Amino acid sequence: MPQNSYVSRPRITVVGSANVDLTFRTSRLPLPGETLAGQTLHQGMGGKGANQAVVAARLGADVSFIAKVGDDGFGQQALDAYTADGINVSFVQRESDCPTGTAAIMVDDNAENCIIVVAGANAKLTADDVQSARAAIEQSDAVLCQLETPVEAAIKAFRIARAAGVRTVLTPAPAKLVTDELLSLCDVCVPNRTEIAEMVGQSVQSDADASSAAESLRKRGVKQVALTLGGDGVLVLDDSGIQHVASHKVDAVDTTGAGDSFTGALAVSLSEGLSLVEAARKASIVAAISVTRMGTQTSFPTQKEIQQWFV
Ligand code: ATP
Repeated sequence: MPQNSYVSRPRITVVGSANVDLTFRTSRLPLPGETLAGQTLHQGMGGKGANQAVVAARLGADVSFIAKVGDDGFGQQALDAYTADGINVSFVQRESDCPTGTAAIMVDDNAENCIIVVAGANAKLTADDVQSARAAIEQSDAVLCQLETPVEAAIKAFRIARAAGVRTVLTPAPAKLVTDELLSLCDVCVPNRTEIAEMVGQSVQSDADASSAAESLRKRGVKQVALTLGGDGVLVLDDSGIQHVASHKVDAVDTTGAGDSFTGALAVSLSEGLSLVEAARKASIVAAISVTRMGTQTSFPTQKEIQQWFV
Protein backbone atom coordinates (compact mmCIF):
# COMPACT_ATOMS: atom_id res chain seq x y z
CA MET A 1 0.00 0.00 0.00
CA PRO A 2 1.50 3.38 -0.92
CA GLN A 3 2.64 5.59 1.95
CA ASN A 4 0.21 8.24 3.24
CA SER A 5 -2.73 6.28 1.80
CA TYR A 6 -4.56 6.53 5.15
CA VAL A 7 -8.31 6.73 4.68
CA SER A 8 -9.71 5.07 7.82
CA ARG A 9 -7.85 3.21 10.56
CA PRO A 10 -4.11 3.00 9.93
CA ARG A 11 -2.97 -0.55 9.31
CA ILE A 12 0.13 -1.57 11.23
CA THR A 13 2.01 -4.89 11.18
CA VAL A 14 4.48 -5.58 13.97
CA VAL A 15 7.12 -8.32 13.67
CA GLY A 16 8.79 -9.07 16.97
CA SER A 17 9.02 -10.38 20.46
CA ALA A 18 6.35 -11.44 22.94
CA ASN A 19 7.43 -11.85 26.56
CA VAL A 20 5.97 -12.38 29.98
CA ASP A 21 7.72 -10.26 32.61
CA LEU A 22 7.86 -11.60 36.16
CA THR A 23 8.96 -8.89 38.61
CA PHE A 24 10.06 -10.02 42.06
CA ARG A 25 10.51 -7.32 44.70
CA THR A 26 12.97 -8.11 47.49
CA SER A 27 14.59 -5.98 50.18
CA ARG A 28 17.98 -6.78 48.63
CA LEU A 29 19.23 -8.90 45.73
CA PRO A 30 20.19 -12.49 46.63
CA LEU A 31 23.81 -13.60 46.82
CA PRO A 32 24.96 -16.65 44.82
CA GLY A 33 23.55 -19.78 46.47
CA GLU A 34 21.21 -17.80 48.75
CA THR A 35 17.42 -18.21 49.02
CA LEU A 36 15.57 -15.03 49.96
CA ALA A 37 11.91 -14.44 50.80
CA GLY A 38 10.51 -11.99 48.25
CA GLN A 39 8.01 -9.23 49.08
CA THR A 40 5.78 -9.20 45.99
CA LEU A 41 5.48 -10.85 42.59
CA HIS A 42 3.97 -9.04 39.62
CA GLN A 43 3.28 -10.62 36.23
CA GLY A 44 3.08 -8.32 33.22
CA MET A 45 3.24 -8.57 29.44
CA GLY A 46 6.32 -7.29 27.64
CA GLY A 47 8.62 -7.83 24.67
CA LYS A 48 9.34 -4.90 22.37
CA GLY A 49 7.22 -6.29 19.55
CA ALA A 50 4.18 -6.88 21.73
CA ASN A 51 4.60 -3.49 23.40
CA GLN A 52 4.54 -1.68 20.07
CA ALA A 53 1.58 -3.73 18.83
CA VAL A 54 -0.39 -2.98 21.99
CA VAL A 55 0.20 0.77 21.94
CA ALA A 56 -0.70 1.00 18.23
CA ALA A 57 -3.93 -0.95 18.85
CA ARG A 58 -4.87 1.26 21.83
CA LEU A 59 -4.44 4.30 19.58
CA GLY A 60 -7.01 2.88 17.17
CA ALA A 61 -4.84 1.19 14.54
CA ASP A 62 -5.75 -2.08 12.86
CA VAL A 63 -2.79 -4.17 14.09
CA SER A 64 -1.46 -7.55 12.98
CA PHE A 65 1.26 -9.15 15.09
CA ILE A 66 3.75 -11.64 13.63
CA ALA A 67 5.38 -13.48 16.52
CA LYS A 68 5.91 -16.79 18.29
CA VAL A 69 4.91 -17.82 21.80
CA GLY A 70 5.29 -21.18 23.55
CA ASP A 71 2.66 -23.87 23.79
CA ASP A 72 2.38 -23.10 27.52
CA GLY A 73 0.18 -21.16 29.92
CA PHE A 74 2.12 -17.92 29.42
CA GLY A 75 1.65 -18.23 25.67
CA GLN A 76 -2.12 -18.54 26.08
CA GLN A 77 -2.21 -15.59 28.50
CA ALA A 78 -0.25 -13.48 26.02
CA LEU A 79 -2.62 -14.38 23.18
CA ASP A 80 -5.64 -13.58 25.36
CA ALA A 81 -4.17 -10.20 26.32
CA TYR A 82 -3.39 -9.24 22.69
CA THR A 83 -6.85 -10.32 21.61
CA ALA A 84 -8.41 -8.21 24.38
CA ASP A 85 -6.54 -5.23 22.89
CA GLY A 86 -8.07 -5.99 19.47
CA ILE A 87 -4.83 -7.21 17.87
CA ASN A 88 -5.05 -9.73 15.02
CA VAL A 89 -3.18 -12.74 16.44
CA SER A 90 -3.67 -15.07 13.48
CA PHE A 91 0.07 -14.75 12.73
CA VAL A 92 1.16 -15.48 16.31
CA GLN A 93 2.22 -19.13 16.24
CA ARG A 94 2.47 -21.50 19.22
CA GLU A 95 5.87 -23.23 19.26
CA SER A 96 5.72 -26.68 20.85
CA ASP A 97 8.34 -27.83 23.40
CA CYS A 98 9.49 -24.26 23.85
CA PRO A 99 8.67 -21.72 26.55
CA THR A 100 7.15 -18.34 25.86
CA GLY A 101 9.83 -15.65 26.13
CA THR A 102 10.14 -14.81 29.81
CA ALA A 103 11.99 -12.16 31.80
CA ALA A 104 12.68 -12.73 35.50
CA ILE A 105 13.29 -9.29 37.01
CA MET A 106 14.46 -8.85 40.60
CA VAL A 107 14.19 -5.33 42.03
CA ASP A 108 15.41 -4.37 45.51
CA ASP A 109 14.47 -1.50 47.83
CA ASN A 110 17.11 0.73 46.20
CA ALA A 111 15.59 0.08 42.73
CA GLU A 112 18.72 -1.94 41.85
CA ASN A 113 17.79 -4.79 39.55
CA CYS A 114 18.97 -8.12 38.15
CA ILE A 115 17.30 -9.52 35.04
CA ILE A 116 17.40 -12.88 33.26
CA VAL A 117 15.63 -13.08 29.89
CA VAL A 118 14.96 -16.38 28.17
CA ALA A 119 14.12 -15.72 24.50
CA GLY A 120 12.23 -19.03 24.23
CA ALA A 121 9.83 -19.04 21.28
CA ASN A 122 10.99 -15.57 20.16
CA ALA A 123 14.23 -17.15 18.91
CA LYS A 124 12.24 -19.49 16.63
CA LEU A 125 10.64 -16.80 14.45
CA THR A 126 11.90 -17.34 10.89
CA ALA A 127 11.88 -15.55 7.56
CA ASP A 128 9.42 -18.24 6.35
CA ASP A 129 7.01 -17.33 9.17
CA VAL A 130 7.15 -13.74 7.95
CA GLN A 131 6.71 -14.85 4.34
CA SER A 132 3.50 -16.64 5.32
CA ALA A 133 2.12 -13.30 6.52
CA ARG A 134 3.20 -11.50 3.36
CA ALA A 135 -0.28 -10.25 2.47
CA ALA A 136 -0.73 -8.58 5.86
CA ILE A 137 2.55 -6.70 5.43
CA GLU A 138 1.73 -5.67 1.87
CA GLN A 139 -1.65 -4.29 2.97
CA SER A 140 -0.19 -2.27 5.84
CA ASP A 141 0.66 1.40 6.09
CA ALA A 142 3.71 0.57 8.22
CA VAL A 143 5.67 -2.47 9.36
CA LEU A 144 7.54 -2.27 12.68
CA CYS A 145 10.53 -4.44 13.60
CA GLN A 146 12.90 -4.66 16.56
CA LEU A 147 15.67 -7.22 17.05
CA GLU A 148 14.55 -9.37 19.98
CA THR A 149 13.53 -11.91 17.31
CA PRO A 150 16.02 -13.14 14.66
CA VAL A 151 17.31 -10.43 12.34
CA GLU A 152 16.46 -12.62 9.30
CA ALA A 153 12.77 -12.20 10.15
CA ALA A 154 13.14 -8.41 10.26
CA ILE A 155 15.05 -8.31 6.97
CA LYS A 156 12.38 -10.45 5.29
CA ALA A 157 9.60 -8.18 6.60
CA PHE A 158 11.40 -5.04 5.42
CA ARG A 159 12.11 -6.55 1.98
CA ILE A 160 8.43 -7.39 1.51
CA ALA A 161 7.41 -3.96 2.78
CA ARG A 162 9.90 -2.05 0.64
CA ALA A 163 8.77 -3.90 -2.50
CA ALA A 164 5.16 -2.98 -1.70
CA GLY A 165 5.89 0.67 -0.81
CA VAL A 166 5.02 0.13 2.86
CA ARG A 167 6.80 2.33 5.43
CA THR A 168 9.41 0.42 7.47
CA VAL A 169 10.09 1.41 11.10
CA LEU A 170 13.06 -0.04 13.01
CA THR A 171 13.81 -0.07 16.72
CA PRO A 172 17.52 -0.97 16.57
CA ALA A 173 17.63 -2.96 19.81
CA PRO A 174 19.89 -4.76 20.54
CA ALA A 175 21.99 -2.37 18.42
CA LYS A 176 24.81 -4.88 17.93
CA LEU A 177 22.51 -6.95 15.70
CA VAL A 178 21.79 -4.14 13.21
CA THR A 179 23.07 -4.89 9.70
CA ASP A 180 23.79 -2.59 6.76
CA GLU A 181 21.01 -4.27 4.78
CA LEU A 182 18.49 -3.57 7.51
CA LEU A 183 19.43 0.11 7.57
CA SER A 184 19.28 0.32 3.77
CA LEU A 185 15.67 -0.97 3.96
CA CYS A 186 14.70 1.32 6.83
CA ASP A 187 12.45 4.35 6.32
CA VAL A 188 12.26 5.40 9.97
CA CYS A 189 14.83 4.43 12.61
CA VAL A 190 14.00 5.08 16.28
CA PRO A 191 17.08 4.51 18.45
CA ASN A 192 17.70 5.76 21.97
CA ARG A 193 21.00 7.42 22.94
CA THR A 194 22.76 4.14 23.84
CA GLU A 195 21.64 2.36 20.67
CA ILE A 196 22.69 5.11 18.28
CA ALA A 197 26.07 5.40 20.03
CA GLU A 198 26.66 1.68 19.46
CA MET A 199 25.55 1.90 15.82
CA VAL A 200 27.77 4.83 14.90
CA GLY A 201 30.67 3.90 17.20
CA GLN A 202 30.87 7.21 19.05
CA SER A 203 29.52 8.43 22.38
CA VAL A 204 26.45 10.66 22.22
CA GLN A 205 26.53 13.24 25.02
CA SER A 206 26.03 16.69 23.52
CA ASP A 207 23.41 18.02 21.07
CA ALA A 208 26.16 18.14 18.43
CA ASP A 209 26.99 14.45 19.04
CA ALA A 210 23.30 13.54 18.67
CA SER A 211 22.93 15.50 15.42
CA SER A 212 26.03 14.02 13.85
CA ALA A 213 25.08 10.48 14.92
CA ALA A 214 21.60 10.90 13.38
CA GLU A 215 23.20 12.29 10.18
CA SER A 216 25.44 9.26 9.91
CA LEU A 217 22.44 6.91 10.06
CA ARG A 218 20.98 8.82 7.11
CA LYS A 219 24.20 8.25 5.19
CA ARG A 220 23.71 4.51 5.73
CA GLY A 221 20.32 4.62 4.00
CA VAL A 222 17.81 5.54 6.73
CA LYS A 223 15.34 8.17 5.47
CA GLN A 224 14.07 9.52 8.79
CA VAL A 225 15.59 9.32 12.27
CA ALA A 226 13.79 9.90 15.57
CA LEU A 227 16.46 9.76 18.28
CA THR A 228 14.77 9.48 21.68
CA LEU A 229 16.54 11.22 24.56
CA GLY A 230 14.44 10.19 27.56
CA GLY A 231 13.23 13.22 29.54
CA ASP A 232 15.22 15.43 27.13
CA GLY A 233 12.76 14.71 24.30
CA VAL A 234 13.45 13.61 20.73
CA LEU A 235 15.71 14.72 17.91
CA VAL A 236 14.09 14.22 14.50
CA LEU A 237 15.95 14.32 11.23
CA ASP A 238 14.73 13.97 7.66
CA ASP A 239 15.04 15.76 4.30
CA SER A 240 13.59 18.92 5.83
CA GLY A 241 16.38 19.13 8.41
CA ILE A 242 16.87 18.49 12.10
CA GLN A 243 14.47 19.53 14.86
CA HIS A 244 14.21 18.98 18.59
CA VAL A 245 10.85 18.01 20.10
CA ALA A 246 10.71 18.63 23.85
CA SER A 247 9.28 16.03 26.21
CA HIS A 248 6.26 16.83 28.38
CA LYS A 249 7.05 17.74 31.96
CA VAL A 250 5.47 14.99 34.05
CA ASP A 251 6.13 13.18 37.32
CA ALA A 252 7.76 10.05 35.94
CA VAL A 253 7.27 6.95 38.11
CA ASP A 254 8.34 4.16 35.71
CA THR A 255 9.92 4.73 32.30
CA THR A 256 9.89 1.04 31.28
CA GLY A 257 8.43 0.77 27.79
CA ALA A 258 8.60 4.53 27.10
CA GLY A 259 10.57 3.93 23.91
CA ASP A 260 8.13 1.30 22.64
CA SER A 261 5.11 3.48 23.39
CA PHE A 262 6.81 6.33 21.52
CA THR A 263 7.61 4.15 18.49
CA GLY A 264 4.17 2.54 18.24
CA ALA A 265 2.51 5.95 18.48
CA LEU A 266 4.94 7.49 15.98
CA ALA A 267 4.12 4.79 13.42
CA VAL A 268 0.38 5.32 13.85
CA SER A 269 0.67 9.10 13.41
CA LEU A 270 2.96 8.79 10.38
CA SER A 271 0.44 6.37 8.87
CA GLU A 272 -2.28 8.97 9.44
CA GLY A 273 -0.27 11.35 7.26
CA LEU A 274 1.41 13.52 9.90
CA SER A 275 4.91 14.84 9.20
CA LEU A 276 7.81 13.36 11.18
CA VAL A 277 7.94 16.29 13.58
CA GLU A 278 4.14 16.34 14.09
CA ALA A 279 4.15 12.59 14.65
CA ALA A 280 7.00 12.91 17.17
CA ARG A 281 5.03 15.58 19.08
CA LYS A 282 2.01 13.29 19.30
CA ALA A 283 4.11 10.25 20.23
CA SER A 284 5.79 12.29 22.98
CA ILE A 285 2.39 12.78 24.61
CA VAL A 286 1.73 9.04 24.54
CA ALA A 287 5.18 8.28 25.99
CA ALA A 288 4.81 10.98 28.66
CA ILE A 289 1.53 9.46 29.85
CA SER A 290 3.14 6.01 29.92
CA VAL A 291 5.96 7.16 32.24
CA THR A 292 3.45 8.50 34.79
CA ARG A 293 2.13 4.96 35.33
CA MET A 294 3.68 1.76 36.64
CA GLY A 295 4.33 -1.20 34.36
CA THR A 296 4.89 -1.61 30.65
CA GLN A 297 1.78 -2.47 28.61
CA THR A 298 -0.41 -1.50 31.59
CA SER A 299 0.97 2.04 31.29
CA PHE A 300 0.05 2.58 27.62
CA PRO A 301 -2.90 4.95 27.14
CA THR A 302 -5.89 4.62 24.85
CA GLN A 303 -6.91 7.37 22.42
CA LYS A 304 -9.67 8.35 24.85
CA GLU A 305 -7.23 8.68 27.76
CA ILE A 306 -5.00 10.94 25.66
CA GLN A 307 -7.94 13.28 25.00
CA GLN A 308 -8.82 13.27 28.72
CA TRP A 309 -5.21 14.12 29.59
CA PHE A 310 -5.68 17.56 28.05
CA VAL A 311 -8.96 18.37 29.85
P1 ATP B 1 12.79 2.22 27.40
O1 ATP B 1 13.96 1.35 27.02
O2 ATP B 1 12.69 2.48 28.88
O3 ATP B 1 11.51 1.76 26.80
P2 ATP B 1 14.03 4.12 25.66
O4 ATP B 1 15.41 4.29 26.23
O5 ATP B 1 13.89 3.29 24.45
O6 ATP B 1 13.03 3.66 26.79
P3 ATP B 1 13.62 6.95 26.03
O7 ATP B 1 14.50 7.76 25.17
O8 ATP B 1 13.98 6.79 27.47
O9 ATP B 1 13.39 5.54 25.32
O10 ATP B 1 12.14 7.54 26.01
C1 ATP B 1 11.34 7.57 24.84
C2 ATP B 1 10.48 8.81 24.87
O11 ATP B 1 9.63 8.75 26.03
C3 ATP B 1 11.24 10.12 25.01
O12 ATP B 1 11.70 10.61 23.77
C4 ATP B 1 10.18 11.01 25.64
O13 ATP B 1 9.29 11.50 24.66
C5 ATP B 1 9.43 10.04 26.56
N1 ATP B 1 10.00 10.08 27.92
C6 ATP B 1 10.92 9.25 28.45
N2 ATP B 1 11.22 9.62 29.72
C7 ATP B 1 10.44 10.68 30.00
C8 ATP B 1 10.27 11.54 31.14
N3 ATP B 1 10.97 11.34 32.26
N4 ATP B 1 9.37 12.55 31.05
C9 ATP B 1 8.66 12.76 29.93
N5 ATP B 1 8.76 12.00 28.82
C10 ATP B 1 9.65 10.98 28.84
